[in-house]
Amino acid sequence: MEQTNGNDILRKQVDSIEKEVNQLEKEKEEIQNDCKHKGETFVQFDKSNSMKKHCSECKRELGYPSQKEQEVFLGNKK
Ligand SMILES: [Zn+2]
Repeated sequence: MEQTNGNDILRKQVDSIEKEVNQLEKEKEEIQNDCKHKGETFVQFDKSNSMKKHCSECKRELGYPSQKEQEVFLGNKK
């Protein structure tokens, strides 16, 4: 089947991208593990549209923001 060749090439490209992404994710985790998350934080919506608090230094997710932090975040947005 001729289709197979095309699919194979795409598959290989995707495989190689995924491998790279995994490697970069691991690198990111190592950097974030070194961070003490003691500095500033910022609030941002995650993929499921819930507010999450992040470390400003390493961008690691630190859980849900407090009521006050949510208000400040939503206030800034307007
Ligand atoms: Zn951090």
